[in-house]
Amino acid sequence: MTKNALITGITGQDGSYLAELLLEKGYKVFGLRRRTSVPILENINHIKNEIEFIDGDLLDQGSLINAVRISNPDEVYNLAAQSFVGTSWDQPVLTGQVTGLGVTNMLEAVRLTKPEARYYQASSSEMFGKVVETPQVETTPFYPRSPYGVAKVYGHWITVNYRESFDMYACSGILFNHESPRRGVEFVTRKVTDAVARIKMGIQTELRMGNLDSKRDWGFAGDYVKAMWLMLQQDKPDDFVISTGETHTVEELVEIAFSHADLNWRDYVVIDPKFVRPAEVDLLLGDCTKAKQQLGWELEVSFNQLVKMMVDSDLAKVQQSIR
Ligand code: NDP
Ligand code: GDP
Repeated sequence: MTKNALITGITGQDGSYLAELLLEKGYKVFGLRRRTSVPILENINHIKNEIEFIDGDLLDQGSLINAVRISNPDEVYNLAAQSFVGTSWDQPVLTGQVTGLGVTNMLEAVRLTKPEARYYQASSSEMFGKVVETPQVETTPFYPRSPYGVAKVYGHWITVNYRESFDMYACSGILFNHESPRRGVEFVTRKVTDAVARIKMGIQTELRMGNLDSKRDWGFAGDYVKAMWLMLQQDKPDDFVISTGETHTVEELVEIAFSHADLNWRDYVVIDPKFVRPAEVDLLLGDCTKAKQQLGWELEVSFNQLVKMMVDSDLAKVQQSIR
């Protein structure tokens, strides 16, 4: 029998990869979409005719109840969020409302309308923040370092609480940074690969950046959405860390991206205090042994392959735009 899935955040990076995966598996996919003056469908243009869109917003409880009613989902993937750490200092209240309380709005919509639906919450390694142990695992205490991280901690615990209070099948995936050619251009990976392409094509002369010393555990979004799906196929709901188990500095990222285009990053990168954050997460490194053992999840794309894939994609995009 065909399964129905409701994805919030369908227009974002992960929403687009997850929709592709679920369509391949034969799901009927419903996507919660915000009304915008101009449609933002760049990531899902190629599959937009296969998705049934429902207008709604995490801040509008009625619209979420409506979305659950219309989609009658077997599985709900709550990926929507104000997801950029930098913006969370400029818009801390909105970030708390959407990324934090928005989770309760979605859980309530499921509880009131279809409590037996399986629910996935997009939690984040940013919850570990100023890490108290390395590597970070499911039991590592949280110490968030940004309004985004604080909001994600709330979203994480309310998901655990609904599982324990109402016996809902609710899982929280603690995903470390994951990137792709569809990543927003404000995030460091895409900012760098987009700049490399523009510099290579002669339409940008420098790249202004913040802290090059911080370390992240970066994986490929296409691999990570498979873990989301696997979490909802188990006998019991649980929480899992999803990561690569490798950490790299921002400087290493910059070096690999520029040299893939035969450029020396030192000729172009300028440190600009504007991009240094009020509080930094210095080091993230996840241990996903639990996910490997219990979900059978495996990673396919390495850090090097990921960066090169993103540079190649941005080179093609920039070439096309100036043709
Ligand atoms: P994106 O920023 O690419 O996508 C966010 C999505 O949320 C967009 O579709 C956006 O819609 C939607 N959205 C924003 N605000 C609202 C709102 N008020 N109501 C409804 N929808 C809204 O994020 P990613 O795809 O990268 O990440 C998916 C989720 O995973 C997010 O919750 C993120 O915080 C979390 N996460 C991501 C990690 C990563 O490395 N990518 C790591 C760990 C967690 P619109 O297009 O209209 O703006
Ligand atoms: P985050 O881990 O969710 O905050 O992902 P980002 O891609 O936004 O940032 C990753 C790291 O890159 C952080 O430690 C940032 O401080 C660092 N960084 C350094 N320069 C920049 C920059 O110009 N933009 C962004 N977004 N991050 C930068």
